[in-house]
Amino acid sequence: MNSDIEEIKSRLNAADVIGEYIRLEKAGANYKAHCPFHNEKTPSFMVSAEKQIWHCFGCQKGGDIFAFVMEMEGLEFKEALKLLADKAGVPLRRFDAQAEGKKNRTLEILELATKFYETQLWQGAGKIKIINYLKERGLKEETIRQFRLGYAPLGWRNILQFLLNRGYSIEEIKKTGLLVEKQAAQISKSQIPNPKQIPNSNDQNTNLNTTNYQPQATSYYDRFRDRIIFPIADIMGKVVGFSARVAPGGDESQAKYVNTPESEVYHKSKVLYGADKAKGEIKSQDFVLLVEGNMDVIAAAQAGIKNTVAVSGTALTAEQVNIIKRYTNNLRMFFDMDKAGEEATKKSLKLCFERDLNVKVVELPEGKDAAELARSNPTLLKETVEKAADALEYFFQKVFLKENPKEVEGKKKIAAEILDMLSHVSSEIAKGHWLKKL
Ligand SMILES: [Zn+2]
Repeated sequence: MNSDIEEIKSRLNAADVIGEYIRLEKAGANYKAHCPFHNEKTPSFMVSAEKQIWHCFGCQKGGDIFAFVMEMEGLEFKEALKLLADKAGVPLRRFDAQAEGKKNRTLEILELATKFYETQLWQGAGKIKIINYLKERGLKEETIRQFRLGYAPLGWRNILQFLLNRGYSIEEIKKTGLLVEKQAAQISKSQIPNPKQIPNSNDQNTNLNTTNYQPQATSYYDRFRDRIIFPIADIMGKVVGFSARVAPGGDESQAKYVNTPESEVYHKSKVLYGADKAKGEIKSQDFVLLVEGNMDVIAAAQAGIKNTVAVSGTALTAEQVNIIKRYTNNLRMFFDMDKAGEEATKKSLKLCFERDLNVKVVELPEGKDAAELARSNPTLLKETVEKAADALEYFFQKVFLKENPKEVEGKKKIAAEILDMLSHVSSEIAKGHWLKKL
């Protein structure tokens, strides 16, 4: 074990490992950064190139690369050991697969499922219908492969049977969120099909191989059927969940997008779609582009804006802001103040101001979304992102347009809106600047 640890340390550079998670700046022979483990305005987190260790002078945390990865990813030591051994290409001599940890087992199943869905897309049922659809939407083959899109075919027990055949138990598969329990179907009829339509394993009309069924398997079925699969990865690129879009010509009465539920590895509020692929570019461009949906991320990346991430169907969360702040302090946001998302947008803005992120707003031409523009006019998309306006300026302009500043009532409303927003701005300079204008 000890020799494994030494071997891993000799092959990996601490600044490289840590630099994948946070933005490091050179400081003499060492590196400094804003500490990812406590909230701070001036960097007190140091990485020593000579000693290959890290230390935060603010919260006093510190240690080697194993300690860092454990703290950052919430892993046990043996899980961090496995992760860094894989990264370093060191085979672990006395590594007990059984003791690998439940979390790794769940991640293993999710990775296998991703491969299953990819195979279904490229070689299976999705080969013509889905690939054509994705190409019609402007995606190139290499982009589809890069984002590991897949296809969940029609049928009730495709992924379930595949994973059972690989030796995973129902209990283990359940933890990934890939299955739905049959009883649940009676609770919400709109979301889930009639349980009578779900074949039991002993039904003759099911064309699946039924010999390997465990008895309890009959009460579960695949969550995703006839859907395009978007794997959702954590910051290190490990698949932790899925977002699934109804296939073209599929049952449109069902929800357009279905996501896997929260699990021990998937926490919606802590994931930014695309961040694993975008993080390097976010660091080098020193800003992140925040868009609404997964397709926007993929289309923007293909159009050459690779520092793009998405919140998946929620307003920005404090945890997501923390992830962003590890890589940059500058955020550009695509949004549409006219639609129902206005309140969510305001909430996101307040959060950014509280955490002292510099926010700019990218305003799209009427009626366009990022994915659409990336396809039809990538140059215009890039220019629009370049021309992003200061978020407070943008917000206040909107307020002035909405209310009439010549009337007393309008004046009051404008002042209230602006003061409310400014109360979340942590920078005194920005606050003073805007208060003067009021
Ligand atoms: Zn700290």
